[in-house]
Formats: sequence, C-alpha cells, structure tokens
Amino acid sequence: MGDAFTTRFAPAPTGYLHLGHVANAIYVWGMARAHGGKVLLRVEDHDRQRCRPEYQTALLEDLEWLGFTPDRPSFAELKQGPSSFRQSDNHAAYESALEVLRARHRVYACECSRKDEAVRAKTGDKADETARSEEGETAGEVPYSGRCRERGLAPGPGRGLRVVLEPGQETFTDLLLGEQRQDPSRQCGDLLLRDRLGNWTYQFAVVVDDLRHGVTAVIRGEDLLASTGRQMRLARMLGADHSPDFAHHPLILKPSGDKLSKANRDTAVRELRASGLSAQEVIGRAAAAVGLIPELRPVEAEEMILPFRLRPGRRHQQ
Ligand code: GLU
Repeated sequence: MGDAFTTRFAPAPTGYLHLGHVANAIYVWGMARAHGGKVLLRVEDHDRQRCRPEYQTALLEDLEWLGFTPDRPSFAELKQGPSSFRQSDNHAAYESALEVLRARHRVYACECSRKDEAVRAKTGDKADETARSEEGETAGEVPYSGRCRERGLAPGPGRGLRVVLEPGQETFTDLLLGEQRQDPSRQCGDLLLRDRLGNWTYQFAVVVDDLRHGVTAVIRGEDLLASTGRQMRLARMLGADHSPDFAHHPLILKPSGDKLSKANRDTAVRELRASGLSAQEVIGRAAAAVGLIPELRPVEAEEMILPFRLRPGRRHQQ
C-alpha cells in the first residue's frame, strides 16, 4: 500500500458496538474525508478468550447500518472468509514480526502473571511509583518488574514473550492534544508480545498491522494515548523508518466520569436501534457527546469533515 493518507477503524469483537465506537468512527471517517484519505476496517480479535463470532457479526452489521463504509476490505470480504484485515487470520504476520525482533533485540520468555506482578508492585518501592506519577505518566499502570529478563526460561506453554525496552523518551505531536513525551520503559517496562495463553497482545498486533497495512494516521480515543510511545518504539524496532500521525480524541464518559464499556447496554448501537432511533440520531448522540456539534441533532455518517490541527488541547466545534 502506498503513502497516501490511510487510517483505520479497529474494533475488538469483545462486545457490541457502543456510542464510544460511534464517536471514534466519526473522527476516523471525518478526518479521512477532510484529507482525501482511505479508511481500513480491521477486526482486532487477537484475544481469543474474549472475542466471539457473534460480536463480530453484530459489529459489521451495526457499522453497515450506521453507514460507515470502509474503503477496504468490503463488509462482504470480512463476512465471507479469511481476510488480511482480521487478526485471527494472520498468525503468520505476527510470527514473522516476532522473528525480526528476535534477530535484532532481546526477546525472552516470561512466566509472570498479571496477578503476580500486581502483588509485587504493591509490596515494591513506593517512592519510585510517586516519582513516576509526578512525571505525569499513566496513573495506575505499573511497569513490568523485569523478573524473568535474566532467567533464560525456555519458551513454551504457560509462558509469555516479552521484548526488552531500553529507557528513552518517545516524543510526538498529537494532532489534537499537542506535544507528548512518554518513556515506555518507565510506563510499562519490557513489552509483552504474546501472553501466557498464547494470544498476541494488542500492543504487538496493532503495530504489526499498522505497518503491514500502510497506516499513516492513527485516530483513536484518549484512553489509548499512553500506548502510543510504546507502539512508536516497537514499530522502529521492527524496522519502520517513520511513525504515523496520531490523533487522540475525547471519550464519551458516563455521568460518573468513567468511560463507557461494552457492558453498558444502554449505549449499545443495537439497543438504541431497537428502541427506534435512526442511524443519524445515534450518530448525532455520539457527536454531541464529544462536543463535535453544539446541540443534539441527527447527523449523517458522511457528513462530518474534520481537518487536522483543530486546535491542539481544545475541544472543537463544527
Ligand atoms: N482495538 C482497539 C479497541 O477496540 C483499538 C485499537 C487502536 O485504535 O489502536 O479499543
């Protein structure tokens, strides 16, 4: 694929499409439209325990009903059979990226569970945690301790794979939020590539896919901002010579201030549709919730045109 503006909409079929996804689709298609770009649709079903075929069917149906049509692949391609845009069909791509990392960097087997690490972190050095949070890094994220780094464990069932991340800043200018600085080794530590159940991780699969699909702009919610530095680093380690542009947009929050989740049935596209709302009314709700329109009104899927540099750090109005 060439260098023309290419972005992607990349839902995980772990639940039904909800208003948060609709807001993301408005930004993705709106920015692509403003820049004469293309939108790819990617099914991020790397987590084999949580993803379900019925959610995948539902998300394709809901997206089609809303009127967000990808340039590639067609809905029919994804419905009919294996596709290079579905992660579970592309094991070989992740295997070969893993080989690239193994050849150039330190990849090691790790048997630590998330639970072990959480316990270790609780009893660990609190002073270090305070220092990290003062640097404005992701609240609540505890970097991997590095416990298995020097253990020389053989890879195998029940063991994950990590790659060593050396200390160092990643800097980028988010198209909506402005200058960002992140040190992935302090945020997450050595990055998990494959988990103990054998799933490729989100961080690894997304980087491999953005590279192989020629993605030039990553447009997603602010909840993924902290992932960006580590994804830039990993892409370079895999041989990328430049990073895509990044835009992290506002999230729709519940009245409590928490982010929406797939468990919130009242914001699921299919529930809203069943309650009699039109596709345009659903899109309007999402657009108003993130401040893209000042008042609630129906919005067509093709309507919004969202040029970059809409004023970093500020909400923007249409
Ligand atoms: N699959 C991710 C999600 O559903 C989005 C990944 C991304 O945009 O980088 O939250």
